[in-house]
Formats: sequence, structure tokens, C-alpha cells
Amino acid sequence: MPAPAAQYQRAIHWFRRDLRIRDNPALHQACTSSKELVPLYLLSEWQKTHPWTGPKRQQFLCESLEDLSRSLSRLGGRLILRKGPQLEEIEKLLSETRADALFLNKDPDPFGKAVETQLKKLCQDRGVAFHSFDDVSLHPFDAILKQDGTPYRVFTPFSKPWLAESVQDLSPAPTHLSTPAELSSLPLPDLSCWGLGPQSTGALPGGEAQARDRLAAALTHRIDSYDTNRDSPGIAGTSRLSQDLRWGTISVRELYRSARTKSSENYPKELGWRDFYFSILHHFPDVLEQEFNPDWRGLPWKTPDGKFDAWREGQTGFPIVDAGIRELLSTGFMHNRVRMIVAMFLTKDLHLDWRLGEQFFAQHLVDGEIASNNGGWQWSAGTGADAAPYFRIQNPWAQSKRHDPEGRYIRRWVPELAGATAKSIYTPPAPGQSVHPGYPKPILDHSTERDVTLALFKDHKARNKG
Ligand code: FAD
Repeated sequence: MPAPAAQYQRAIHWFRRDLRIRDNPALHQACTSSKELVPLYLLSEWQKTHPWTGPKRQQFLCESLEDLSRSLSRLGGRLILRKGPQLEEIEKLLSETRADALFLNKDPDPFGKAVETQLKKLCQDRGVAFHSFDDVSLHPFDAILKQDGTPYRVFTPFSKPWLAESVQDLSPAPTHLSTPAELSSLPLPDLSCWGLGPQSTGALPGGEAQARDRLAAALTHRIDSYDTNRDSPGIAGTSRLSQDLRWGTISVRELYRSARTKSSENYPKELGWRDFYFSILHHFPDVLEQEFNPDWRGLPWKTPDGKFDAWREGQTGFPIVDAGIRELLSTGFMHNRVRMIVAMFLTKDLHLDWRLGEQFFAQHLVDGEIASNNGGWQWSAGTGADAAPYFRIQNPWAQSKRHDPEGRYIRRWVPELAGATAKSIYTPPAPGQSVHPGYPKPILDHSTERDVTLALFKDHKARNKG
């Protein structure tokens, strides 16, 4: 809801996952409608054991806050950092500042939404104006519905009205702002704030300035050839902007508008998957707990054993799977094609619950996004909205041959295979052998496990019908 023309004396803008100055709808409205602005970020109290406190994610957050703090200082303001339970901290700050308005951009996750509901009530009780804005997705979470008003469950029909919908105008960046001088702030955080140790480099650096460089590079070099290169993990063929969309260091509207002027047809549409999964999470929040497709609830997943450890350490003896996990552990990113292969391997070759993989990815991915991560895992497991049918099981050897035929990607992440021929990397070795000396033997036989999966899904379906 846009802010009324009336001026506020002092407003709080709560930065959450919108760590940027440009095209930030709530920040823009807060700045134009108030004399003084308190730009707030609340540091989480999570400690290292929390599933969302992966060190690479937090490092990206630290760098993004540093950049945001610099930008606000240039405008004459100051980033105020506090730490503690969100509702409590905001209530304290409202009392301390006597602010008469609170601005924020809406969060797509159930936890964030619940806080918004509580804050709205808190503001009402205190006579403080509350303004929340759509920002994270290209279109509001419930904007794209079927003609009968119900949500889409399949991507292609969703994508048509999604592509046809007009995109909200970009909000101008503030030109100056003033923050009350007397307010205290914690220092900018480093990883010790969450009990985490220093990180090796390898992840992309965080911050709006860095994100703008990546955006420019993607528009100049990557998006034009996206349709040809997107499925080749050995080539820098995708935009590499997912972490910036996740943390809001770029605006999805700006990216979409710029990308539509380029020749790739698929790139803008690909952003639709992100909105599709936001819409699924908005309308069906129980996907976080259970299979979207009720046919597959209660599947008898196996108990994790040493093979799960081999998977999460990149030691399965399947080069493409190990390369993917090692890329993730080293950079906080994994190519989309490889995410699918690795996820299918966990669910269809190891017969392990997709929730184990979802949680592992959430901790390690810098772009870890509750909606897309859940959607991607349920898609790969065959249990989700518009998922791959359970009988479409990717063969990791054939996938390597098709998408990394020269083994460029694999050799980059699995140095033990530097001297192996391309053919040996994508050919299953003889039983009891490895694809190359010094590299682990495959922990399983793909065709045997494929049959196990087919039987497992078929039996489950038959039992449910009976
Ligand atoms: P590009 O190919 O350049 O695509 C541009 C943007 O479109 C991406 O940045 C992303 O925002 C969006 N996008 C593209 N494909 C998808 C998709 N299938 N689902 C949702 N959005 C998409 N993406 C996340 O952002 N966070 C996650 O936590 C996440 N977890 C995943 C888990 C699994 C098991 C799978 C199979 C996919 C997951 N994805 C996730 C989707 C996808 O892998 C990444 O968005 C993509 O690899 C990011 O790289 P990029 O920015 O170069 O993508």
C-alpha cells in the first residue's frame, strides 16, 4: 500500500532481504514521506548449528551490509544494526526513536509473513503507520491465478499470464537522507557474530556495487547466448545472479526489464520459475513439511548411512555428482543442471528423503531460497508441483556425456581426474573399479538403483490405491 502524501516526522525502514538503494519500493516511499529515516537491519541470533547459518551465506550478508552502510553514509544517513528477536527489537526502537511510521518490503517465507502480521498489529496498537510493499517477486505472490481464481500448479500455464502481466515501474533511488544522530548501532558484523570461523574465498563477493557489476557482465556477455550455453556447466553460460536476487542486492524488476531487451527468449521466462515457486509456497505453505503431490506422501525413504556422507563430501565415485558437491562446498553455488543431477542421485540412487538434501543445500547455497530450494528438490524427487515424473530418472553418466562432454567442469572441481580422458569420466567403470586411479570407486550401480526406485514408487502407489 503506497504511503499517503502526509509527511512523517521519523520513519523506520527495516531492511530484510532488500539490501540495496536502487529500485527499493519501501525505502523510496519511506524517504519521500518522512523527514528523518532510521535505516535498520536486524542481525539474527542464530548460531552456527542453525540450518540457515551457512558460513558462505553469512559472509555474503556481511559484505552486503558493508556496502549498504557505505551507500547510506554517502546519502547522509547511517545504517543502524541491532541484534535480537525481531518483534522485540522493533518495539524497542519504536519507543526509542518515537518513530511514527514503519516501512518494509514483504517477505515470501511463512516465518517472515508471520512477523509482518505481528508488526502490523503492534503498529496499530501504538498508533504507528505500517506500510508494506511487494518487492521480492516480479509480480505479487498471489497476482497470477487461473480464471477460476485458484492458483496454478503447473509452470507452463502459469508462465503465460506471468509474461503478459505489466511490470511495476522502478522506484528512484533516494538522493539524500538524514538519520537521528543519537541512535546507537552495533558495529558491522563479521562471521564471529554467528560463532563461525573465517572463510576461504571462493564465493562471489556480496553487495549492491558488486551485484551491479555482475548484472552488467551478464547483460553484455551471458544473456544473449543463454539459450545455447545454459545447460553446460563447463561454460560461464548462466547469469550468476541468483544470490543477488536472494539478498536483494539487485531488483528483479530491473533485471527482468533489461533482460527482455536481449535476444534470449528463455532467460526472462526462467525468472518465472522463481515466481512460480513463490506462488506455490504462498498458496501451499505445507510444501515445507510434506510432498506437494499427495500420491507420494509417506514414501519409505531409506535411513541415511555412510553413502549419505559420501554424497555430501563429494566422494561418491560419480564424477559429475562429486564435482557438483565440491563446487557447492567451495563456492556456495552449484550449476542448475548439476543441482538436478545431484538431487536425483540423492533421491533416486540413494533413495534418501529429499528433505535431507534440501537442508544441506539451504546451509551451503549463498542463493539458498526457501521457495526455489523446496521446489527444486521436490521437482527432482518427483513429488512436487509440475515435477519430473518419478519414472524419469537421470543417468549421471549420460548426463555428464551430454552436458560436460570434454569433462571441463568435472576436472575443475575434481582435481584427481585432471589426467583422465573425457571418455573415461563419463563411462561407468567395470565393477569394483574406479574411473581413474586415486579417485573413489562408485558407491553404487546406477541401473540397479534405478530399478529399486521404480519398484518403490510403484509399490507405494499400489498400496495407496488398495
Ligand atoms: P540463471 O540460469 O541465469 O537463471 C536466472 C535466474 O532465474 C536465477 O538466478 C533464478 O533466480 C531464476 N531461476 C532459474 N532457474 C530456476 C529454477 N529452476 N527455479 C527457481 N528459480 C530459477 N535457485 C535459487 O535461487 N535458490 C535455491 O535455493 C535453489 N535451489 C535449487 C535446488 C535444486 C535441487 C534445484 C534443481 C534448483 C534450485 N534452484 C535454486 C534453481 C537454480 O538452480 C538456480 O536458480 C540457478 O542455478 C542460479 O544460477 P543463475 O543465477 O546463473 O541462473
